[in-house]
Amino acid sequence: MEINFEELRDEMVEEQLIKRGIDDDLVLNAFRKVKREKFVPDKNKKYAYEDGAQLISAGQTISQPYIVAVMIEALEIKESDKVLEIGTGSGYAAALLAEIAAEVYTIERIEELALKARKVLSDLDYRNVKVKLGDGSLGWEENAPYDSILVSAAAPYVPEKLIEQLSKGGKIVIPVGERNEVQQLKRLTKKSKGKLKEEELEYVRFVPLIGEDSWR
Ligand code: SAM
Repeated sequence: MEINFEELRDEMVEEQLIKRGIDDDLVLNAFRKVKREKFVPDKNKKYAYEDGAQLISAGQTISQPYIVAVMIEALEIKESDKVLEIGTGSGYAAALLAEIAAEVYTIERIEELALKARKVLSDLDYRNVKVKLGDGSLGWEENAPYDSILVSAAAPYVPEKLIEQLSKGGKIVIPVGERNEVQQLKRLTKKSKGKLKEEELEYVRFVPLIGEDSWR
């Protein structure tokens, strides 16, 4: 029997996002549009709208829709914004960001994932996303500064280059804490004179950010 993904997608938005307090229309509309089934492995498509993280390849995960929504909502992205994502994974969060922001840059350290994400994003005609293979703990200097930075992997601290590459008034959302344990999701806002305002959001569990300015 054919699966009605559109119905599952609307149900996910209603049950997993709206009922838990996500209320930014730009965010909700992005989740209504992006076909999550295109970003999970073929054999798991029927689980694409389940309420949890799922394995993709190379031992990595596509995050739980609700957590991605919390992170994107916390960034308060505007339609004219330039956004950097660290940890492309499947490319799902990058597609959501591309529905909201003008320009999206996303970095993945595992070649297999970066290539797959680049292909699916291009097949789905997301022309405002650029995928780079590299170490996101160092950011992506060339296109800086960014209005928002979404870090989709857990770091022991906020990498210095990411703070440097953030515009004034810009925000970073990042899980910070021990490797393979529960981490604290944080939002940092860059104030005048480079000062940072730090806020604590939810507790989360992400795969580690592995790189030169993070876990080795
Ligand atoms: N945003 C992804 C999605 O929508 O599918 C999920 C990201 S997954 C939880 C974390 C990703 O971060 C993994 O694919 C992992 O390989 C990647 N990663 C870890 N350290 C990295 C680094 N230093 N630079 C770039 N990517 C990194």
